[in-house]
Amino acid sequence: MPTILGKRAIIIGAGIGGLASAGAVAPYFDTVLVLERDELPIQPIPRRGAPQSTQLHVVLAGGMQALCDLFPGFDNDLLCAGSTQIEMSDLSVEFPQVDPLPRRDLPGLHVFGMTRPLLEFTLRNRVLALQNVEIRDRCSVVEINPSLEGAATGVRYERPNGEQQILWADLVIDAAGLNSLTKPFLQAAGFATPDETTIGVDISYASAIFELPPGVTNWKAVVTLPEAPAESTTGMVFRIDNDRWMTLIAKIHSKDAPRDWDEMLAAARSLRTHSLYDIIRHARHPERILRFGFPESIRRHYERLERFPRGLLPIGDAICRFNPVYGQGMTVAAQEALILNQILAGRVGTTDSLSGLAETFFHRAEPKISAAWAMGTGADFAYEQTTGVRPPDLEKGMQMNLAIRRLAVKDAEVHRRLIAAFHLVIPLEQLYEPELMKRAEPYLSAA
Ligand SMILES: Cc1cc2nc3c(=O)[nH]c(=O)nc-3n(C[C@H](O)[C@H](O)[C@H](O)COP(=O)(O)OP(=O)(O)OC[C@H]3O[C@@H](n4cnc5c(N)ncnc54)[C@H](O)[C@@H]3O)c2cc1C
Repeated sequence: MPTILGKRAIIIGAGIGGLASAGAVAPYFDTVLVLERDELPIQPIPRRGAPQSTQLHVVLAGGMQALCDLFPGFDNDLLCAGSTQIEMSDLSVEFPQVDPLPRRDLPGLHVFGMTRPLLEFTLRNRVLALQNVEIRDRCSVVEINPSLEGAATGVRYERPNGEQQILWADLVIDAAGLNSLTKPFLQAAGFATPDETTIGVDISYASAIFELPPGVTNWKAVVTLPEAPAESTTGMVFRIDNDRWMTLIAKIHSKDAPRDWDEMLAAARSLRTHSLYDIIRHARHPERILRFGFPESIRRHYERLERFPRGLLPIGDAICRFNPVYGQGMTVAAQEALILNQILAGRVGTTDSLSGLAETFFHRAEPKISAAWAMGTGADFAYEQTTGVRPPDLEKGMQMNLAIRRLAVKDAEVHRRLIAAFHLVIPLEQLYEPELMKRAEPYLSAA
């Protein structure tokens, strides 16, 4: 049976969301064109359009599963590119009041250590290998074009020589991240714009790459989370690609992330445990510290709109920009792309198969976004300075989470579920299911 649902899909942006979307829609369109305003480097190095890519990035286990579903064997590509496979038994997560969680093998759950540019570069190569997909770089989309009825019919974009060109498409996917073009389109075409939820966290970030002599640690990664609200610094170190390591210090409600290596060491030494410091103090040849500021998480509630234009679909950060400390953004973008792929697969052989696509997509993506959002923002609101509307049952939720972590110390299956939920592999309800909550109750009294 022919699987083609449309002649051309245009994707705005070649970040993780755009590249994952290219894999998702390629089987269902004659051609797919990805327009990226940056000049895309021919090596895995940071670029201007994704300035956050100088910072430590981790794809959660759920994101890696989605990428491997879209691009079979992608995990192997990453290994061939030099990344480090990190099993959960090699990743020490230090939650406050329960650290250390026992060192346990959690089969089926692992992550890969690498720079964000290496991840993007490897994914881009997979996309470029798809015969019907073209990535055109140095092409900046100026606007999404409307039909008289308000549907998206394509884009106007600026070519490297400054000329502007209009291209039609059956589907425009807005993966432009922070600079999403969907809202201006909705306004221009007379549609309502989505409600936005904003959570002010004012995080300052600093990352650095370095080398480590052999034998310093038997972990491949360490994550030390702060005991809120007294502590506000998260520290991480990951073995990344090609025998290098990368460390990160993130401070919430602060502009004071380390500026140089001495400050990085001092920040690591000030953490609740010395696990991070005991690794990075042996660093050799640390590269320049690179800093980044993240003021607020933003969620656009497209799922609440009553009407949405045909032919348009925002994805990834264009819908929701998560607090980066929890490492969710790329995972949710990849999972959204997989949802899109599954919806399109289900429409093969139907008539008017692109009708209502965005509405179905928003509906199906909403639980994934909500779960990730709830996990991150719940922790953010432990700080008084965090701005935004606090959930009414915040205190109870924090107590329950602590109780579940305490149970996880004793119970390997609960430990697996806790990490699987954190990595967006299982729905949050599976962590909070009544039987488990009942077993966690005795640990509430100690909370
Ligand atoms: C400091 C920091 C650390 C982070 N750490 C993690 C982490 O550990 N794990 C994780 O999962 N997530 C992390 N994130 C989030 C992650 O970076 C984003 O969620 C992810 O990049 C979103 O992908 P995207 O494709 O939606 O957007 P982006 O990656 O922002 O890509 C958008 C692309 O669109 C292009 N573009 C924009 N406008 C136009 C236009 N008009 N025309 C053409 N092209 C255009 C841009 O150049 C860019 O390439 C972090 C974010 C920050 C800020």
